[in-house]
Amino acid sequence: MAKSMAGPEIEALIKLLSRLPGLGPRSARRVALHLIKNKEQLLVPLSAAMAEAVEKVQVCETCGNIDSASPCTICTDTRRDPSLLVVVEDVSDLWALERASVINAGYHVLGGTLSPLDGVGPDDLNIAGLLARTAKGEIREIILGVNATVEGQTTAHYITDQLQAQAKAMQAADPSFEPVTISQLAHGVPIGGELDYLDEGTLLQAIRSRKAFG
Ligand code: ZN
Repeated sequence: MAKSMAGPEIEALIKLLSRLPGLGPRSARRVALHLIKNKEQLLVPLSAAMAEAVEKVQVCETCGNIDSASPCTICTDTRRDPSLLVVVEDVSDLWALERASVINAGYHVLGGTLSPLDGVGPDDLNIAGLLARTAKGEIREIILGVNATVEGQTTAHYITDQLQAQAKAMQAADPSFEPVTISQLAHGVPIGGELDYLDEGTLLQAIRSRKAFG
């Protein structure tokens, strides 16, 4: 056990910071010191921003995005094409696509991928919410923006099967119901890569050259 160099308040701050992505104990110490040295300019406003985030941030009941309102800013944006929906694994993927402004569509966040080995089944993902949205008939195309990993592809196939089964059931009740087109992001998305790490040009290319799936 290393000796404590600072009081419990500072040690607690360092310990929490070291749990942030990309920060180890050494960089957490550096960040903590930087925050403390810049108390008025950084530590106080950061603390206020965090308190506000704790109070206001919520998960959108429609798409699974994280925002300060539910339905979120994207779901309530009437300038978006309501017939186009991009399905992603994580909120970070949604944010990456939005940051790159590559598509003017709605989104649906699954919250992960199917992974039997890790005990993640269909009920653990927001697939029922997706089917509830497509059942309304307004969505014409689903773009599967899942990663090119085995889990991502298994998830893509499962969703496609579910959408096709739904379309069949809907058509039996109403012959005029048209099934959605399902497409997938084109190559350029590296194996095991996450959308968040891609540059705008690659994301735009992946959207533009999307291919039919299923
Ligand atoms: Zn939303």
